[in-house]
Amino acid sequence: MIMIMIIILMLSGYESMNSSEKWFPMILLTLILGINGITGCTSTDTTETVNSETNNSDNPEQTNHQDQLDITVSIIPQEYFVKKIGGDRVRVNVMVEPGAVPATYEPKPQQLQALSEAEAYIGIGVPFETVWMSRISQANPKMLTVDSTEGIERLTMIAHDHDDHGNHDHHGDHGEQETTLDPHVWLSPRLVKIQAQNIYETLVKLDPKHQEIYQTNLNNFSQEIEELDSQIRANLAALKQRKFIVFHPAWGYFAQEYNLTQVPVEIGGQEPSAAELAELIKEAKKEKIKVIFAQPELSSPSAKTIAKEIKGEVLLISPLAADWSHNLLEVSQTFAKVLKEEKSRE
Ligand SMILES: [Zn+2]
Repeated sequence: MIMIMIIILMLSGYESMNSSEKWFPMILLTLILGINGITGCTSTDTTETVNSETNNSDNPEQTNHQDQLDITVSIIPQEYFVKKIGGDRVRVNVMVEPGAVPATYEPKPQQLQALSEAEAYIGIGVPFETVWMSRISQANPKMLTVDSTEGIERLTMIAHDHDDHGNHDHHGDHGEQETTLDPHVWLSPRLVKIQAQNIYETLVKLDPKHQEIYQTNLNNFSQEIEELDSQIRANLAALKQRKFIVFHPAWGYFAQEYNLTQVPVEIGGQEPSAAELAELIKEAKKEKIKVIFAQPELSSPSAKTIAKEIKGEVLLISPLAADWSHNLLEVSQTFAKVLKEEKSRE
């Protein structure tokens, strides 16, 4: 219990607070320590974790990976990108584990520990990075930290925040909505080309001896991206219906690139209000939409509600699939099939 509080305080950016803000957590902590002293509550397992962390940080075996580069990335699709360019020369660690969402992810202590072996952290600007980047850098001050989205202009979206998932406290109660920048830049092949260039430059900086290999790999990957892009374009070219409803609006860059219109169910990371839900159902009926898209990583009861009301179905597409290229191609095929059927109902 005590350790949990201490960890919460550490994670809540205690260092960045000004001195008056520091009083509250300190008082809270003192109270909890006091109460625990009385009840005799202790927590040994967390203490052990902290101890083993200190032991491992001095681990001398840091260069034993057959000369490979140790790269940590934020999300699964980035592993695909880094491996395309680094080939056998890289080992990739992914922070956000399969099935988790990058908006609310909290790296595990072992993951932060493992960073002591990383040569670089390649970020992509997903929300958890904002909260964690300083601790990520602190975990290994020698590690190069890179923003692979440098040079990408982001679209705006309504606040991307999954904090209120699962409770029914609608955003109407939260006052004004905040606009944030859309983090889903890995779902547009054109933007992934920019990220690939940034990843290439990072690998060359770390390992200039093998620049030629990275250059060849980058050229091959760029070609793969161009082919993927023209296949997606071909799949979507003839569609008359270009509007789709999706629970979590991850497909904004994809939609922009291929001239589709994304209608989000979730707004600001929250389930819609009853009025918003009614509005979406009305729009879906008017547009003869029969499919509500959702993703396997997020539960989406309102997507099911809409689907039921329009006598349609919920289809899952993942923005975080490991086989990035194949996944985007499949998504474009799914869109093509679904939207074509919807239009032909008229
Ligand atoms: Zn997202």
